[in-house]
Amino acid sequence: MKLAARVSQVTPSLTLAIDAKAKAMKRNGVDVCSFSAGEPDFDTPDHIKQAAVAALQQGKTRYGPAAGEPKLRDAIAHKLQSDNNLCYSADNIIVTNGGKHSLYGLMMALIEPGDEVIIPVPFWVSYPEMVKLAGGTPVMVNTTAEAHYKITPDQLRQAITPKTKLFVLNSPSNPTGMVYTPNEIRAIAQVIVEKDILVVSDEIYEKLLYDGAEHLSIGAASPEVFDRTIISHGFAKAYSMTGWRVGYLAAPVEIIKAATKIQGHSTSNVCTFAQYGAIAAYDGSQECVEQMRQAFAERRQAIFDLITAMPGLTCVKPDGAFYLLINISKFGMGSLEFCDQLLTEHQVAAIPGIAFGVDDHIRLSYATDMTTIERGMERLAMFVKSKL
Ligand code: PLP
Repeated sequence: MKLAARVSQVTPSLTLAIDAKAKAMKRNGVDVCSFSAGEPDFDTPDHIKQAAVAALQQGKTRYGPAAGEPKLRDAIAHKLQSDNNLCYSADNIIVTNGGKHSLYGLMMALIEPGDEVIIPVPFWVSYPEMVKLAGGTPVMVNTTAEAHYKITPDQLRQAITPKTKLFVLNSPSNPTGMVYTPNEIRAIAQVIVEKDILVVSDEIYEKLLYDGAEHLSIGAASPEVFDRTIISHGFAKAYSMTGWRVGYLAAPVEIIKAATKIQGHSTSNVCTFAQYGAIAAYDGSQECVEQMRQAFAERRQAIFDLITAMPGLTCVKPDGAFYLLINISKFGMGSLEFCDQLLTEHQVAAIPGIAFGVDDHIRLSYATDMTTIERGMERLAMFVKSKL
């Protein structure tokens, strides 16, 4: 069978093999300590579930507008104004099937062959693949641990060519857990304006900040950058709603109209009653977000202390999201081999950094309970001792 050429341009998920092996081991009764999940281990807060149940009972079970339920678009616009000082109306919002599909829809609406999209490395796995699916060219810019894996304004300026259309910013970041400071965001914003390119700011981990880290949404840096900004966001991480599949884009109306056109011919609308859960998430008390954040903060400290006490591993302390990116270059093996041996010999599942463009790193997610963290780190300590 001859498949479309675009399929071969996409890299198959390098992490899938390790993940499949970990799951098969679990199914066979092996006690695996897993640090691979990109999702909170908490249940969705009850008031959010109840709002979706009520919506179901009220018959919100039909097709809705492609761009989303008007009440949810209003709630999102209100959130962006009050939390982020961004002046959007419902017309500037499209509700999508998660933050992943918001980015996919954006690439489809914006990128065409010849367009370059700048992506800092390490990157979230789907960014380059989405750019390629849209026919564009991902342009990777390496960052350093010394710069806390953040792209500098000069690096961004140098990577921009006449073909550059878009820069992908992700703060707090998956996989690094780093947060750009407000001043760093302002400096990046200046380059965006000076070079007249667009920026998509993936803010899905916005609420997961530690040690006083501050989130500045880049569109709030200046009116000039606001006009060039697209926000990609979602409910998955802060409200523990990964399976609900609700995310959104906020952008100039022209972009929202284009993404809505595409969504209208692909997924139609996001599950109607799920959108009512999302309305409750934004309109209700934010106490649940803070409780989960505090739990992540404790786990972050615990896992970071355990990791940094191990010989051979180095790690920059993250101030956001729920990931640790760990340098394993002292072990003289690639990240796939490291993760495979760690899983086989000590039953600890981690994600190989090669998936994020950094083969000398691994990623651990601490969105798991403290007992798993303690047991898993004991095993990791034994593993590193045996390999050094
Ligand atoms: N952006 C980043 C950086 C992520 O880590 C994820 C999920 O892992 C997403 C976007 C997409 O999230 P979702 O589609 O579940 O809303």
